[in-house]
Amino acid sequence: MMRLHLLGATGEVTGSSSLLEVGKKKVLVDFGLFQGAKFALEKNRRLPPVDVRKIDAVVLTHAHLDHSGRLPMLARLGYKGPIYASPATIDLTRLLLGDSARIQQSDAERAAKRLVRQGRIPPEPLYDEEDVATIMSQFVPMPMNKTTQVTQGVSVLPHDAGHILGSTSLKFHLEEAGQTRIVVFSGDIGVRDTPLLCDPEPFHEAHWVVMESTYGDRDHRSIAATIEEFLQILVTAEAEKRRVLIPAFAVGRTQQLLYYIGVLTEQGRLPESLPVYLDSPMARAATQLHLDHPELLDDETKRKDFCARLDRLKKRVRIVESRADSMSLNDDWSPCVIIAGSGMCNGGRIVHHLKHSVWRHNTDVLMVGYQSNGTLGSQLVKGLKKVRILGQMIEVRAKIHTLGGFSAHAGQTELLDWLKPLAARKPMVLLNHGEDRSREALAEKIRNDFGLNVTLPEPETSFDL
Ligand SMILES: [Zn+2]
Ligand SMILES: [Zn+2]
Repeated sequence: MMRLHLLGATGEVTGSSSLLEVGKKKVLVDFGLFQGAKFALEKNRRLPPVDVRKIDAVVLTHAHLDHSGRLPMLARLGYKGPIYASPATIDLTRLLLGDSARIQQSDAERAAKRLVRQGRIPPEPLYDEEDVATIMSQFVPMPMNKTTQVTQGVSVLPHDAGHILGSTSLKFHLEEAGQTRIVVFSGDIGVRDTPLLCDPEPFHEAHWVVMESTYGDRDHRSIAATIEEFLQILVTAEAEKRRVLIPAFAVGRTQQLLYYIGVLTEQGRLPESLPVYLDSPMARAATQLHLDHPELLDDETKRKDFCARLDRLKKRVRIVESRADSMSLNDDWSPCVIIAGSGMCNGGRIVHHLKHSVWRHNTDVLMVGYQSNGTLGSQLVKGLKKVRILGQMIEVRAKIHTLGGFSAHAGQTELLDWLKPLAARKPMVLLNHGEDRSREALAEKIRNDFGLNVTLPEPETSFDL
């Protein structure tokens, strides 16, 4: 018996997780946090439909928390087995989970105060830093482009997904009682021709494909047009004394933004008089990791170029370390650019910057990544006139810009290009990691262009492979 259970990211972009059952063996692929949307808290506490201690192996596509963010819960539940991931993914995951544990703890403390006042029993945090240390000790490096056997009857081949440093698409080879099945998980698919990462590398055979569909309904603006738009906003900010806030994922997007700020400054097009603050110790650490894993940056020339540019950037970009320094950026409100996390404004230092500036006319907020439903970021993108920030209703007078071209996710055409080499073998396609509007549009295209059988699974559905 070979089965596939989809445990998360069905009809939404967070909570990625699937379980493969091959005879008596069980392999979990990703175990991500549900973020932003309604019931995220309850969903995060739901456990896989099997005894976690009986799982034989875990394989992780990439470090982003919507894929890795619940892994430390496995440590709490007594999982002692291996977690396979690419070497760069292991480094980035350590960074992101450590931060996540600190957020879980402070969120739980805040909730506890409120609930105790109401006479209710406060929930435990999902995990703490000790659980993170335990789970990190179980990671096993999985080399790119080489087959690794993860348990009896299950081996995996990772390809570069071009989405963030170390990100992979996974091809599983399953074998049971003389039967074989190939199941491909796209992971998150990146865009082509970015300055830092390799292009996504597709696969050529599969019986089943579990594929992301974040931007299944649209193509992004070209990167060249996006850079011009970005520059225009910054130049105007300098001339008109505006402040620019950029909520950015610490891993991936921030490095890309720094790179373009470096290029535009060198070209003399971005005035040096406009201060740029990187207000995210995690983003700084993640930037360093990009330098520690040069094997994953695109080609030799680009790599040298990137490293040299980052070096020069140290003069251009002011790094904000402490919380106090971050707060003090709002003491005297002057024009500048602030890059801070989280990318969807549902936590992190960007939240207090928004609180201090979003009610001012002379503020620009630049959305450079996906804004999941229910997050503060999505409310701003939707144009709400008032939003709740840190418990206060605040009027939105800032200009909100969306720069889709900086996305780390492939648009519709590139998603179809990724699937194309697989299409000839007529696999079954399951679309996940996308809201319904996106995955319906992508399904329609896949049926029309390739004549494939496409399913949009409901939460917690299972398939006989
Ligand atoms: Zn991702
Ligand atoms: Zn994702």
